[in-house]
Amino acid sequence: MIPHWTEQREALRHWLLTQPHIMIGCDFDGTLAPLVSHADDACMAERTRAAVQRLIAKPGVMFALISGRSIADLQQKASVDGALYAGNHGLEIAYEGVTTVAPGTAEAGPALRAVLEQLAPAMARIPGVWIEDKTCSASIHFRLAADDAHAEVEERVRAALREVAALRLRPAKRIWEIRPATEWDKGKALRWFMERCEIPTRAAAFLGDDITDLDAFRELPDGWTFLVGDEVKCDARAWLRDPEDTAELLEWMAGVRG
Ligand SMILES: [Mg+2]
Repeated sequence: MIPHWTEQREALRHWLLTQPHIMIGCDFDGTLAPLVSHADDACMAERTRAAVQRLIAKPGVMFALISGRSIADLQQKASVDGALYAGNHGLEIAYEGVTTVAPGTAEAGPALRAVLEQLAPAMARIPGVWIEDKTCSASIHFRLAADDAHAEVEERVRAALREVAALRLRPAKRIWEIRPATEWDKGKALRWFMERCEIPTRAAAFLGDDITDLDAFRELPDGWTFLVGDEVKCDARAWLRDPEDTAELLEWMAGVRG
């Protein structure tokens, strides 16, 4: 069982007080903002935003938001000043005012458009299923669909991608993610930020609640990994109950750091 973060307080305090520069990477949905039936309605509590802002204001603290949302959507939803942002599972990275897209992403665009066009009528017929086209990737959301419709969604999505070498399918919580078949993920985006900011893995942390966040956890063998919620099985270093717990941790971290 992963220990709750409060059981790791002493080790965390030591880490916060001894690393001159730290990077805290963080997912958005399910980690900072509670999961909601429709992704458009997701919203981060004011308390959480304030905790993130307080942490960013501390010397030597960098905060990187890395989400499956498109970067524009993420920036608008999170609305945190001074954070680093990566969207589309890291395929889009904003750094020093420039947004770059991971290699191979643009090339997969036509294949993605074709697959979405093919899937649209079938998905529209299943109540509760909707397609989110995030330009670089797409999400097939089925959180609102009846349980007995899940198999059909999976079958149709798999069939649409069967002979499409340019794309790959990744599962997330009640979502199928259709992404370019590049070796790029949240972990690579986190590493990209760490390299630019010269942060060693031991000075980095990542908080996430979903399968796609494990890519980031893997980049931090000696850093801090925080799993939020109960749905995903992994061996993170500390556990957080829910996004409210995340707010508590971030507030505490800001207090220790400052
Ligand atoms: Mg999430």
